[in-house]
Amino acid sequence: MELRELETKKKLLETEIGSAEERLTKYKNQQMQVRKNDEFQALGHEIATTQAAIDAFEEQELQVMYSIDEAKKKFAAAEAVLKQNIAGHEGRIRSLRERATNLAAELQAAEAEVAAARAPLDEPALRLFDRIAGQKQPVCVPIRGGKCGGCHLKISSEAESASRGKNPDIRIPTCDQCGRIVYWES
Ligand SMILES: [Zn+2]
Repeated sequence: MELRELETKKKLLETEIGSAEERLTKYKNQQMQVRKNDEFQALGHEIATTQAAIDAFEEQELQVMYSIDEAKKKFAAAEAVLKQNIAGHEGRIRSLRERATNLAAELQAAEAEVAAARAPLDEPALRLFDRIAGQKQPVCVPIRGGKCGGCHLKISSEAESASRGKNPDIRIPTCDQCGRIVYWES
């Protein structure tokens, strides 16, 4: 039974006991005043019955009080577990908030780096870079052994000479196969 129900039951029993005790006192007073033996005995019977009822109510009340104690103990134990859980969740929220703050700072720093790196480049170069970046990474790769560092296929002689600064027609050399920007790695 729930704690609140038990408290209600205890109050009801106390009321029952109170009114039974009032009846008992009334019967006892009446008994002192009667003269006839059968009336005296009838009241004696009422007194015994009422006293038995009071005893039974008190026995029930003791049971209810015991149950209340048990319910309170269980409630306290459950409360302790919940408090511990809450403390755990709050700790996790705190560390996640901390992490979110750190990540926001990292993101801001990275965005500043990107902005600084883009600043000296002109529009066509940025457009080329962004177009390749939308499809593959890395965007800029070295030429090694005459091959593209991204797709590892052979680089055309035009692109290779452009990457060495010997082809003024091609400003930004790219791989003919994968389209990445290539540069000469000496
Ligand atoms: Zn390539």
